[in-house]
Amino acid sequence: MSHHNVTLINPQWVLTLEEGGLLIDHCVVIDADKIIAISPVDNAIQKYPHAKKVDLPGQMLMPGFINCHGHSAMNLFKGMADDLPLMTWLEQHIWPAEGKWVDPEFVRDGCKLAISEMLKSGTTCFSDMYFFPEVVSEVAVAMNMRAICYGPILDFPTPYGSGPDEYFTKILAAHDTFKHHSLIDIGFGPHAPYTVGDESLKKVRMLSDQLNMPIQIHLHETEFEVNDAVENTNKRPCLRLDELDFWGPDVQAVHVTQLNAQDKDTLSKKGVHVIHCPESNLKLASGFCPVFELQSSEINVALGTDGAASNNDLDMISEMHTTALLGKAVSKNAAALPALDVVKMATINGAIALGKEDQIGSIKVGKQADLISIDFSDISCAPMYDPISHLVYSASRHQVDHVWVAGHLQVKNKTLCHVNPAQLMEMAQQWADKISSKQ
Ligand SMILES: [Zn+2]
Repeated sequence: MSHHNVTLINPQWVLTLEEGGLLIDHCVVIDADKIIAISPVDNAIQKYPHAKKVDLPGQMLMPGFINCHGHSAMNLFKGMADDLPLMTWLEQHIWPAEGKWVDPEFVRDGCKLAISEMLKSGTTCFSDMYFFPEVVSEVAVAMNMRAICYGPILDFPTPYGSGPDEYFTKILAAHDTFKHHSLIDIGFGPHAPYTVGDESLKKVRMLSDQLNMPIQIHLHETEFEVNDAVENTNKRPCLRLDELDFWGPDVQAVHVTQLNAQDKDTLSKKGVHVIHCPESNLKLASGFCPVFELQSSEINVALGTDGAASNNDLDMISEMHTTALLGKAVSKNAAALPALDVVKMATINGAIALGKEDQIGSIKVGKQADLISIDFSDISCAPMYDPISHLVYSASRHQVDHVWVAGHLQVKNKTLCHVNPAQLMEMAQQWADKISSKQ
C-alpha cells in the first residue's frame, strides 16, 4: 500500500460536527480527496509513518463553510451603490449596471474575485444563482472550488438570453457539460415568484424531477413582495407555489423574512430548506427571518452571504456572528441559536440543504476532505474556554489559516496558494474604473 498522497493533519482541536463533540489529541488523515481516518495522534503516526504531517498548534480543524446563497460575479459591484432603499438600489443601480456590463468576461472575473475571497475566509463550497452558470462552473473547476450553480429563470430578457426558453436550453446544456464533474452541480434558479410565471415554475419542477437537479428561489424577501402578491393574486407566494406543486426537499427558499402559520406548515411538510442571509436582509432593510421559529418547526436552515453588492462581504464567520445575535433579538430569547447550532447552519445544514450531506458538511471517514483550520492564537481569542464560542462570537475571517477543498490545499498559513492577490485586485480595479466612468 502506498501512502504518497496521505496527509496527517494534527490540530489542537477537531470539530467533526458528528457524534463525539470536540476532539483533542486527534489527527485527521486525508488521502487524495477523501478523509480516511480520525484517530488519536499516536495511532495515526504509527499507521501512516510516511504521511506528510501538518501540525496546527493552537488551531481548530473543522469542515469548510458552505455558503448557500450568493451571486458571485456581483463582487465587481461591491461598494458601487450602498445606503439606498431596496427598489431604488435595484431599479436605478443594480439592474442598469447588470444590463450594461454582465457578459461572460464580467462573470469570469467577478467569480475569480469572489472565489478567492471565499477560500481565504474558509468557504469550501458555494451556491451561486447568476447568469452564465457555465462560466461560473468553469472558473470553479479551474480554481478547484466546489460549487452548485443555479442557472437563472426569469420571464423577461436579460444579458443571458431572450426569455425562459433560451434559459432552459442553456441551463440544460450546462448540466450536460458538468454532470460528471465531481466539484460541480447545476440546478435551476427561478429568480422569485414575482419574476417567474406559473408555466416556467411548472417546467422547472418537471425537469428537476426528470434530471434530479436542485432548485433555489428567492422567497418572501420583503413584506412588500408578499402584500403586492396578495393584492394581485389573492395569494401569498408560498401558497401559490404550493398549489403548483413546486415545493419539495430539493428546493431551497432564500430569505423568508415573512412567515405566517400556513407558510411554516407548507415549508415544513414539503421539506423545503430555508437559506438565511441575515446581513443582506439587514443592509437592504428587507425584514427579519424568524430562524428560531423555523427551527422549532423542524425546518432545516442554512446560511448564505447573498451577493457582495448587498452585504458587502462573503465572510461566513461574520455571517454566523450576525445570525446568532439577530436570532436572539428577533426571538426575544438569549438562549436561541447557541454557537454550535449556528456553526452547524454554516456547515452540515448547508450540505443537507444542497443535498450533499453524504459528501460534505462534517468530518467523517469517507467524506470529501473539505477542511479548514481556525487559528485561535490571537489576542481576540484569549483566554480560551471554548473554541466554538470564540469561532462565533470573537474570531474573524483573518484567523482562517489552512483550507483544503477535496484534499487540495488552497490556503496555507493564511495565504492563498494558487492566486496572485495583486493581479486579482488590479483586475477588479480596472472593472471599477470602467464601470464608474460610464455610470
Ligand atoms: Zn440573492
